Amino acid sequence: MASSTPSSPGERISRWRWRWLWILPRLAFILFVGGVALLLWTSDRADKEERHATLISDILWLEQNLRFHLTRNEELLGRIDQAHTANAAAFESYAHTLFGYESGLRQLIWLSTDGTVRLAHPAAMDPSLVGDAGEAVPSRQSFGLARSLAKPVYSKAYPYFTNDWQFEVHVPVSREGRIVGVAVGVYRIRDLLSDSVPWWLAERYRISVIGDSGKVLGTRSKVESTVTEEGYQVAFDPPGWGLALHAVPYHAPRPLASLLLSGSLVILAIIVLWSLWILRRHVLRRQAVEEQLRQEHAFRKAMEDSLDTGMRARNLDGEIIYVNPAFCRMVGWSAAELIGRRPPMPYWADDYLDETRALHDSVLAGEGPGEGFELKLKRRNGETIDVLIHEAPLIDARGRHSGWMGSMVDITERKQAEERARQQQDRLQSTARLVAMGEMASSIAHELNQPLAAISSYCTGAANLLRSDTPAAEVLPALDKAVEQARRAGQVIRRVYGLARHSEDRFELIRLEERIDDALALMEVDIRQNGIRVVLDFQARPLVEGDPVLLEQALFNLFRNAVESMRDTAPDQRQIGITLTCADRYALLTIADRGCGIAANVADKLFDPLFTTKTEGMGMGLAICRSVVENHRGRLSFEPNPGGGTVFRILLPMASQ
Ligand code: ADP
Repeated sequence: MASSTPSSPGERISRWRWRWLWILPRLAFILFVGGVALLLWTSDRADKEERHATLISDILWLEQNLRFHLTRNEELLGRIDQAHTANAAAFESYAHTLFGYESGLRQLIWLSTDGTVRLAHPAAMDPSLVGDAGEAVPSRQSFGLARSLAKPVYSKAYPYFTNDWQFEVHVPVSREGRIVGVAVGVYRIRDLLSDSVPWWLAERYRISVIGDSGKVLGTRSKVESTVTEEGYQVAFDPPGWGLALHAVPYHAPRPLASLLLSGSLVILAIIVLWSLWILRRHVLRRQAVEEQLRQEHAFRKAMEDSLDTGMRARNLDGEIIYVNPAFCRMVGWSAAELIGRRPPMPYWADDYLDETRALHDSVLAGEGPGEGFELKLKRRNGETIDVLIHEAPLIDARGRHSGWMGSMVDITERKQAEERARQQQDRLQSTARLVAMGEMASSIAHELNQPLAAISSYCTGAANLLRSDTPAAEVLPALDKAVEQARRAGQVIRRVYGLARHSEDRFELIRLEERIDDALALMEVDIRQNGIRVVLDFQARPLVEGDPVLLEQALFNLFRNAVESMRDTAPDQRQIGITLTCADRYALLTIADRGCGIAANVADKLFDPLFTTKTEGMGMGLAICRSVVENHRGRLSFEPNPGGGTVFRILLPMASQ
């Protein structure tokens, strides 16, 4: 499986790069989001700090403002004169004037030097302020202090009914160096705040006055607003007594720009994340497709590489754009040397340049022979090869005709085999003639020998009789006999002639193993003398139809050649293996020797009549053998013996039973 195969260094590097390709954008994304978050946090923090600083300055400003307010009131109170305290109406009008400055004062009281309330506006007195004797109760201490110090003194804050707190300022009023009374201003803390805290400050903060026990004595606040942050507190002095001014900012809506910025950053981050995800999905899909393509390409390449058929593609200009390995093997040029070449190609055979060019042009013109054509090409080493070429239009992915694809099959061997067959046919005919002539000659010689000898002796006798004047009548019988012998000679010639023409008439059923045994028996002396081992392997005992004498003669020739080929073979190697098998209605007889073998340059001429490599050889043995075998509708062939030497094969049709 692919997963278990060890990965190559190239694959490892690309996997490493691939991992980095993924880590980098993720890292960049995390850094980006982190950076944005940090930016927002710092800007938020800076905002807060700035708000806090503003709060401090605002509350300090408010404290100063209040102090200024109180001081101004002190001054105004100290300026009360006789006209103002003459009667209730004058006092009331003065009090109105005073209250009109947004003073925060709730009540104005005029005390005599002994602390008795002389005038008060509004007249309704707080129960806590006036004792049974009509004296101001809680302010007594402040009154005394103000008188003795002859300067304004503030009282402690005290509750007024349930939820309001107030305090007083006792301002001694002196005329001509003598204290004539004390003007008391009563501040209600809530009113003081609403009078003296400007609206813009009240919009931003909840402002409270806090007592020494931490209790809230008065507040100016928008009830509906929520308070989120910590406040800030400053001492509120005067009036002293541990009062403090406390301000807490309301929740300020974040600035629109900041909101827009953070919103757009978040959206940006989401878009980046989303596009990363889309990209990853796309790349993964692409990778899968690439892998599929790679596998398909590898498969196609393997297919192309394992083809024995040469493939060559040319564009419409005739330039080579592709060759497969089989093509390169056939012509001997590498793909790099061939791709991009234009005619004349280096593999065009020099003797057939014009013919090849004409074919090339006709293919490019779309007029090439549809059934393919044979051509002679040249290998790099100069050898000429015969090829069968089929050209087909090359159609690209968009369906356009972009060139020509040619498939090329090397038919050199087939051509050579055809040529050999033709030559063999020629040889066969001449050999057949030779054999027939040989046979006839020997038969004629043998058969004619007797009648000719008889004719000769009869004629000699007749001549002798005539020379001795013997009467002709006595000579006649001898001449008749001579005529008789001459007729017989004529018959012999006719019969021999007839035999030669109808040799198959002499065919009979033959057991091949018997012919082998008989032929070996004739060779027995030679075999023994040369110390040759004969190994017989008769896997079948087929019957064939044929001439026993001729077949035995053919086998004898082959055995003799085998024995003679092993003259230089080491004695312990000398062996003739003879097998007999049958297959597909043919009997196959093989004779394998361990001899010198047959050199490639003589293999073609082996069956030629009179071809021999032996000094005492006739060169007729194999020619006659093949003629005999083919006369029996068989085949004689040879091939190198894998263990050294030669194997001759005789294929004979089995007799039909
Ligand atoms: P001859 O034996 O008279 O030379 P043949 O026609 O029988 O004629 O053989 C022709 C040639 O073929 C031989 O000269 C020899 O070179 C070669 N030849 C035949 N048989 C064998 C064989 N078994 N081993 C090697 N060469 C052989």
